[in-house]
Amino acid sequence: MDRRSFLSRSALAGALPAASPREQSLVEAFDAMEIVDSHEHLLPEEARVAQHTDFFTLAGHYAMNDVTSAGLPAESLARINSPETPLAERWRLFEPYWNHARFTGYGQALRTAIQDIYDFPVISGQTLPAINAAIQARNKPGLYRYVMKERAKIRFAVVDDNYNAAPAKLDPEFFRVARKFDRFIAPGGASGVRAAEKLTDVSIVSLSGLKQAAEKSFQQSLEVGMVAVKSTLAYSRELRYHEVSEADASRDFDALLRGERKAPAGFRAFTDRPFRQLEDHMFHHVMKLAEAHGLPVQIHTGLTAGNGGWLTNSNPTHLTNLFYLFPKVRFDLFHIGYPYQGELSVLGKLFPNVFVDFCWVHVISPAVACRTLHDYLETIPVNKIFAFGGDYRFPELTYAHAKMARRNVARVLAEKVQEGFCTEKEALEIGALLLRDNAGRFFEAR
Ligand SMILES: [Zn+2]
Repeated sequence: MDRRSFLSRSALAGALPAASPREQSLVEAFDAMEIVDSHEHLLPEEARVAQHTDFFTLAGHYAMNDVTSAGLPAESLARINSPETPLAERWRLFEPYWNHARFTGYGQALRTAIQDIYDFPVISGQTLPAINAAIQARNKPGLYRYVMKERAKIRFAVVDDNYNAAPAKLDPEFFRVARKFDRFIAPGGASGVRAAEKLTDVSIVSLSGLKQAAEKSFQQSLEVGMVAVKSTLAYSRELRYHEVSEADASRDFDALLRGERKAPAGFRAFTDRPFRQLEDHMFHHVMKLAEAHGLPVQIHTGLTAGNGGWLTNSNPTHLTNLFYLFPKVRFDLFHIGYPYQGELSVLGKLFPNVFVDFCWVHVISPAVACRTLHDYLETIPVNKIFAFGGDYRFPELTYAHAKMARRNVARVLAEKVQEGFCTEKEALEIGALLLRDNAGRFFEAR
C-alpha cells in the first residue's frame, strides 16, 4: 500500500478506533448477530430506486447539516443540491467545508457508507464520478435486501413513515410502522383543520370533530399494523403538555377556526403558541388512545435535525406529568435527550414506563454515545435501553450507523468487563438485550 492510500485508510480507521482483543471478540459477536432498529425514515424501496440518488443525495442526510454549520453558503448548497450543476462544480463548492465537517459523527457515517457499501476508501474530486456510478448501479430492486439484511443484519426497523400522510402498509420483512398524530394535536390554523378533514373524511367543526378525526386516523393506522405512536412536536414547541379542560381547549379550537389569532412567523413560533391549550388537550387525548390500545409512544427529545431550532423546548423533563398520568403507556424517549442525557438518565431510572433510546446518537457523536452508555449501564436497568436506531432516509447510512453502534456497544462493554462491572458472558448477554431483544420485545409485545 502506498503512503497516500495508507494515510487515507488510516484516517478512516480513525473513525472506528482500533479494538482490544476482548473488544474485537465482542465486535465479531455483535456483527454476526441480527439487531432491531428502533427508528428510521427509510422510504419504501420502490420509491428509493425510482429516484435519482448520488453522493450528494446521501450527504444530504445528515452530513450536509454539518457542512452548512462549517460555513457553506446557502447559494452554494442550492447549486450542490441540483443534479443539473456539473459534478466538478458541485464538488468544488462542497469540498472546503466538507474538509472541516468530515470528522463529525455525520461525516464518519457518510465515509463509512461510501467505503463499505461502495468500496471507495477515498472521497475526492477524482473518485466522485466512479462513486456516483457505483451508487447508480446499485439503485435498483434488491438494494434493501443487500444493505439492510446481508450487510446490516437488521431484523426489522420501526419506520416513522411521515412521507405517507394517510397510513400505508409497509413491507413486514423490513419494517414496522410508527404513526404520527401531530397534525391533529397542532393543526396550526384553519387550513390544517381542512387538511385533517380531507385526510380522514371526518367533518371537523368543533373540538369533538377534531378528536373523532384523530381517532379515525388512529384506527386506520392500527389496520396497517402500527406498533408505536410517534411525536416530533419538540421541533415546534415546548414538550410541557398541561392538563387542560375540554372547555378551554374548545375555546382555542373555535378561535383557530375563526382565524382570530395568528401564529407568529419564523423562530418566534417556537415559544409563542396562540393555541397552546388546544395542543395540550389534544396531546393528552392521543396519549389516551395509545393507552387504550396498549401502544408505546416514541417522543423526540433533545437535539433537532437541520440547523437552528430551539433546544430548551426539547428537554425530556418537560414530559414528567405524562409519566404520572399515563403509567400504563410505555414511553420511548429518543436520542437520549442529547444534550439532556443526564436528565433522561434520571427519568429512565425513576419511572418504570420510561425507556431510553440511542437512535440517531452514534452518528451525532460516537464519544457521547459511549460515555452515555457507560453512565446508563450503571443507572438504568438493562431491559430499558435501546442501543440502536438508524434515523436515516437512506439504507447505506443506516448500515454505517449500525456498524458504529455495534462497535460502540462492544467498546463500552469491553471496558465494563475490564472494570469488573460484568463478566464477558454477561457482556454478550447485555449486548444482545441492548441491540436486539429490548426493542424486539417492546415493539412486538402488546
Ligand atoms: Zn428521526
